[in-house]
Amino acid sequence: MNILISACLLGCACRYDGKSKTHPAIEMLRAKHTLIPICPEIYGGLPTPRPPSEIVGDRVQNSAGTDVTDAYRRGAEEALRLAELFGCKVAVLKAKSPSCGKGKVYDGTFSRTLTDGDGVTAALLQKHGIKVYTEDEIAEIL
Ligand code: SF4
Repeated sequence: MNILISACLLGCACRYDGKSKTHPAIEMLRAKHTLIPICPEIYGGLPTPRPPSEIVGDRVQNSAGTDVTDAYRRGAEEALRLAELFGCKVAVLKAKSPSCGKGKVYDGTFSRTLTDGDGVTAALLQKHGIKVYTEDEIAEIL
């Protein structure tokens, strides 16, 4: 099946720090399924590298105090568009990201403290019926 996946998990250096974040289980997933890479923060128009951002209430703010909510929402819409275009019913998204995180995200204090919640893209995809997994839950798909 076609699975939407955070591009940084595939080795693309698109994270805020200009690095990627691969995971050993990705190769097993790739052997069985067609992976459709997305990076909502890039699609939203943000540069790489960029200051880290966190969700603060219903907004997204970067560490310099700039409101980047619009970019995050735009990126989420583009990710959804690709999911629909490729018929993806499942997505594997990078844990804890303010875009891609599912279930847990940083709490907006920039102190590496996690709180319950979803990233902007993870929330939008789930709202449209796409089942979202983190990279730590890939075994459930396999
Ligand atoms: Fe990875 Fe998602 Fe962040 Fe892009 S937005 S770098 S895909 S976690």
